[in-house]
Amino acid sequence: MYNTRLTPMDLKDKSFFLRTFGCQMNESDSEKIAGILTAAGGREAERVEDADIIIVNTCAVREKSEEKLYSYLGRIRPRLDARPVLVGVAGCVAQAESANLVARRPFIDFVVGPDNYLRLPEIIERCGERTIIADEWSNDWREAPDLLFRRRSPATAAVSIMEGCDNFCSYCIVPFSRGREKFRPLRHIRAELAELAARGYQEIQFLGQNVNSYRDPETGTPFAALLFEAGHMPGLKWVRFLTSHPKTFSAAIIEAMTSSPVICRQVHLPLQSGSTSVLARMNRGYSREEYLAKITLLQERIPGISLSTDIIVGFPGETEEEFGETLSALEAVRFANIFSFRYSPRPRTSAAKGPDDVPFDIKRRRLIEVQALQKRIQSAIHESLIGTTMAVLGEGPSRKDPAMFSGRNESYQVVNFRAPTDVRGRFVRVKISGSGPYSLRGDLVED
Ligand code: SF4
Repeated sequence: MYNTRLTPMDLKDKSFFLRTFGCQMNESDSEKIAGILTAAGGREAERVEDADIIIVNTCAVREKSEEKLYSYLGRIRPRLDARPVLVGVAGCVAQAESANLVARRPFIDFVVGPDNYLRLPEIIERCGERTIIADEWSNDWREAPDLLFRRRSPATAAVSIMEGCDNFCSYCIVPFSRGREKFRPLRHIRAELAELAARGYQEIQFLGQNVNSYRDPETGTPFAALLFEAGHMPGLKWVRFLTSHPKTFSAAIIEAMTSSPVICRQVHLPLQSGSTSVLARMNRGYSREEYLAKITLLQERIPGISLSTDIIVGFPGETEEEFGETLSALEAVRFANIFSFRYSPRPRTSAAKGPDDVPFDIKRRRLIEVQALQKRIQSAIHESLIGTTMAVLGEGPSRKDPAMFSGRNESYQVVNFRAPTDVRGRFVRVKISGSGPYSLRGDLVED
């Protein structure tokens, strides 16, 4: 017999373990889930072994994230025989694939989509012999009070301002897994910013699938005005935003960025492909030339700006020539960081209705080429920073060397350094003494 399921349970004194896969939206959602369960009396477990409830919060954007979910569920499966545990899946996979998930892994007790997290305590209490699927949509923003968030960092907070997407890029599942765009009322955002500043948060990051589509649903205030306001808010030291769509990345946003040193000189602007013909097949709504013109404007108006992007290789029909245009765009822009992926068809998307006709070996070779080029570019950018001194917000011990501290600079580059005291959540000044392709190293300097 597998999974001796818990009987309907009170969350009080029950422990839960959250495993998160995917993007920063998912990380932020996990903070919300942890807060909701804690407020209902649950306790967050450090180790999966100690949990009464295991929730996997995962993303559906890439096939790989979905594979990770199934592989993780396979790994925890033996634990379910040893003691009674509830297993839930949250996130956009849950939303997009709820019935499939339960068919493939019948030991799942509940599946909960992003619009239903506030119902989690009630869903868990009702769990028993029946699997509960909560994948209803809401067309309106569902406000979760800030106090419900169990934030992982003492200094950096993600602030959701919108969810969903109306763009229907031909490869992307988000409009189906997160729904259409919905915007958070500005008065709630303002209240959360004031609360975070009062609690000593130094850095906030506005989050949403398309932050630059943001409009206050009550007054129509656009994203550029929100950004301007945050940049002038007492208490906040760094303001960032993620993700922007090149099509709607406006001159007004660039002007808002120049209005305050608090708004970080850093933008993530997903290019996806350097070829205009591939971009048209992707339904991205901009050409290579339009994208590069926006980059030029950004670089002119905000000297020293740090840029990052997303790249997909092997999109259906991508020729060697089209792929070469992606490489030349990377050379032209010299991004500080990229996230690169092999194309994989996602259910319900229009690209998935046609052939996935670039052979796997070619996709793999193109990905290797993109990553090798980017490694050279990043190494050169990092090397050019040796000898400079920069502000770094301490995050915690370095993953590779726990004797070192790790933090991020304004450009969102990882900086490792030695520190005599715990500098987590504090701004320090670091003089860069060394570098590799993925991080910088340095020494603390006194102010
Ligand atoms: S803009 Fe395109 S890639 Fe981004 S979330 Fe929307 S549909 Fe997906």
